[in-house]
Amino acid sequence: MLRLYDSVDGEVRDFNLRDPGHVSMYVCGPTVDNLPHLGHGRFTLVWDIARRWFTFRGLDVNYVSNITDIEDKIIARSLQEGRSTAEVVATYEGLWWEAMDQLGVARPDEAPHATDWVPQMIELISGFLENDIAYVISDGVYLDVSRVPDYGLLAGQPLDSLRAGDRVEAVGEKRSPLDFALWKNAKPGEPSWPAPFGEGRPGWHTECVVMSLGLLGDDFDLHCGGLDLKFPHHENERAQAVAAGRVFSRHWSHNGLVMVGGEKMSKSLGNFTSLTHLAETSDPRAYRLLVLRSHYRSPLEVTTDTIADAERALARLDAFARRFELPALAGDTLEVASQHRFEGDGEALYLEVGAVLDDDLKTPLAVALLFDALASANSAADGGDGSRAQDLADAINALFGALGLSLHSRGDDVDPISADLVTRRDEARVAKDWAEADRLRNELVTLGWVVEDASTGTLIRRP
Ligand SMILES: [Zn+2]
Repeated sequence: MLRLYDSVDGEVRDFNLRDPGHVSMYVCGPTVDNLPHLGHGRFTLVWDIARRWFTFRGLDVNYVSNITDIEDKIIARSLQEGRSTAEVVATYEGLWWEAMDQLGVARPDEAPHATDWVPQMIELISGFLENDIAYVISDGVYLDVSRVPDYGLLAGQPLDSLRAGDRVEAVGEKRSPLDFALWKNAKPGEPSWPAPFGEGRPGWHTECVVMSLGLLGDDFDLHCGGLDLKFPHHENERAQAVAAGRVFSRHWSHNGLVMVGGEKMSKSLGNFTSLTHLAETSDPRAYRLLVLRSHYRSPLEVTTDTIADAERALARLDAFARRFELPALAGDTLEVASQHRFEGDGEALYLEVGAVLDDDLKTPLAVALLFDALASANSAADGGDGSRAQDLADAINALFGALGLSLHSRGDDVDPISADLVTRRDEARVAKDWAEADRLRNELVTLGWVVEDASTGTLIRRP
């Protein structure tokens, strides 16, 4: 039985599914107004790992994650760049998917765009106005949270104590500082849609509740996102579902945030926090391994040291994969346990790793068990027990594959001539012979490789 921490209950509990054997999950996706950063990378990796593990265990997962393509920040960016919001969205959504592919995050089953769901949002808001749950003021339509009986459930505080708190802005025309915008009236030059209550655009909280219920239906299984979305975004999504008489998600799950280590790093590597930059300067599997090595609910510290340490661990995995001639896994097709054979010590390992992952996705324990098993497999092979070693190696490969981590670096199918060029280029770089390093880079490019500089040396891959 899978167990997961529930953010509302504040405890780990059984993952009770609406339809046994099927998981319906919604992950709040990005607002595409800028380069994707490490925080985006963490939440997409965390929920990609969860999705992959549920799938590995034989569950049929329907994974929905939205693209917010209309929002204040997108409008601000379009004014700043002097381009239309559509052009801004096209640019940054393209960069988003590029980064996801580099991280090996499998594409969602559905990635709804908010602007495709505006009629359903208008319908929801109209219903609230008819029932006096929402009201109109000069800049738009607001939900009256006092009409939602258990508002504050996700915040873990009742309405009165939230009101008393200092986290809420001034009231203005609003009935309560906690009331939030469902619809924002159009300002000149902004994208807008006609509605019975005035030309405008939807509020962010309305986008997600409409798309999640629209695609997954009432009582869907799991609503996920970063801890920073718990309040007010998720509270306000849920408030609308409750106010509309719908049954919202059965479980709530939130991932911890990313800490980018120390002043030093941000000063010396100003753009290190962009995923695009990370992919250019390190093995993209390194960030997945870092994410796996911390529990998803904990904060994650990212520094050049922790990335370099993950790359050294990956080098061990690559060498292991070569030694046991393991097939490459963890591509776009998600692995399923029933398609792998677990035998002897490999079966025991699967039982052990399966138990810790089923218990609130304890990936740090799972990774530690897998690295211990790797050492055992190597010793068994050294000691002549090839069969035990191979059983363990096959299980290790399958289980890392289940978590989306390939034991093969992207340069694995390198021919001997290209491999020699890579070695010579690394030697030239160590000797600071930049002219020779550039010349060798050009030779590799002529052979059709994309060449990247990682802290471990030259990485090459096919475009
Ligand atoms: Zn959302």
